[in-house]
Amino acid sequence: MKIKNAQFIISAVSSEQYPSGNLPEIALAGRSNVGKSSFINTLIGRKSLARTSSKPGKTQTLNFYLINDQFYFVDVPGYGYAKVSKKQRESWGKMIEKYLMERPQLKGVVIIVDLRHPPTEDDRLMYDFLKHYQIPVLIIATKADKIPRGKWNKHLNIVKETLNLSPSDPIVLFSSEKGIGKEEAWRELEKWIGE
Ligand code: GDP
Repeated sequence: MKIKNAQFIISAVSSEQYPSGNLPEIALAGRSNVGKSSFINTLIGRKSLARTSSKPGKTQTLNFYLINDQFYFVDVPGYGYAKVSKKQRESWGKMIEKYLMERPQLKGVVIIVDLRHPPTEDDRLMYDFLKHYQIPVLIIATKADKIPRGKWNKHLNIVKETLNLSPSDPIVLFSSEKGIGKEEAWRELEKWIGE
């Protein structure tokens, strides 16, 4: 996809603040520090549209980015951040669940995992949740540049097995550092956007 423009629209804390209109939305989820902001920035070819976080998990809002006046990327706050209180975690969960379950514009969710490590319990919960509600999923296994090429398949298989990934769900090996997987990721996302 050719990116003509990309702009931050809003950090929403409740549904009244979500953008109006019917443009498709693609949500991005993953544990804090997994490389989610870098993934967004790599896809749209901007250095720092999405904030790359030195303070993991600080964002407790849904951040909407309008791409080409055509669709939104919706950055979901990173889960699994130990330092937020139980109460904050619960309200985080409610806001996300409500968005995922009740937003007609949502076309699919990208779960970003670290190729180096097996997906976490939170990744598995998110994947199961999305499958349960029949929301389309794309798995991005990022930081591939940190693993020797000869071990990519072994690590991909661990990701698939840990998530119990359905064979029909796409998984893309990715590196923001090297730009690996960018075209393949776009091909999958374009199916959701309807290009
Ligand atoms: P977020 O918290 O999920 O948004 O994560 P960030 O995008 O801020 O990335 C967290 C850290 O991982 C930063 O130091 C990034 O430079 C680094 N990082 C992100 N993606 C990659 C990648 O593909 N390869 C490497 N080597 N580092 C990455």
